Amino acid sequence: MIIGSHVSFGKEGLLGSVKEAISYGANTFMFYTGAPQNTLRKPIDMKNTEEAWNLMKENNIDINTVICHAPYIVNLANNLDERKYNFSINFLAQEIKRCEEMKVKYIVLHPGSSVGIERNIALDNIAFALNEILKKDNSVQILLETMAGKGTEIGCTLEEIKYLIDHIDKKELIGVCLDTCHLNDAGYNMTEFDEFLKKFDEQIGLNYIKCVHVNDSKNELGAHKDRHANIGYGTLGFDIILNIINHPKLMNIPKILETPYIGETDDDKARIYPPYKFEIEMIRNGQFNSNMMNDIREFYRK
Ligand code: FE
Ligand code: FE
Ligand code: ZN
Repeated sequence: MIIGSHVSFGKEGLLGSVKEAISYGANTFMFYTGAPQNTLRKPIDMKNTEEAWNLMKENNIDINTVICHAPYIVNLANNLDERKYNFSINFLAQEIKRCEEMKVKYIVLHPGSSVGIERNIALDNIAFALNEILKKDNSVQILLETMAGKGTEIGCTLEEIKYLIDHIDKKELIGVCLDTCHLNDAGYNMTEFDEFLKKFDEQIGLNYIKCVHVNDSKNELGAHKDRHANIGYGTLGFDIILNIINHPKLMNIPKILETPYIGETDDDKARIYPPYKFEIEMIRNGQFNSNMMNDIREFYRK
């Protein structure tokens, strides 16, 4: 099982991410190369990066399974403001360069939001932008994330994902990241996961799946909301998620948790404790822990 969570990329860069992943008992991880919302980026510190590679080796974390997530401000779908559109293209190209420097193979991307233009035009904008970015010979694969369909998000149907892939010139540099919360919220029933995979295989091809974001959902099937819940504490439930994680067809695919931090009480809005160590443990044990929230609080309070 290759499992980890999203982690921060702080002062120590990749080294900080590896240390955090190890503290959760993870054997992979996903990181942003800076705050997801903003665009301030420091140059990659190669000394820390080399130390990170060594620490990964010592802890059986294969760099080939590590995932980067592109920042949210990148929107390749809308080109009404040409300056913003070009900024997004250049910024993503730069993020890919940084991944290359760190030997990271995959970058997950939200396809974008159409905001005020027709969806089919938005789809063509994304394909055009991706082809521009991929023109430069590189080794990093862009993984299109399946989205919940909140607002005007593109990529919330398999048809849209397929359309994008069909229009990419360098198919060897494109892939898909499934997000179980987003799929549920988009209307794909995760309780019939075999059916879903069959449909995915017929339309797109299972070989395109390179990462799975493992999240429970706070909302009902087809809600188009995108609110993640802790594993086993949402509408999907523990067994449905475990079935996806252990699915033989997704065996060697990295699974990444993006579940919410928890607070001192159940309705505490200040989310301070990371759940990942406990969620990973629960998943490895194959047994739901109904006391997980308290276990987490106790562990980190000390
Ligand atoms: Fe995402
Ligand atoms: Fe996700
Ligand atoms: Zn989400």
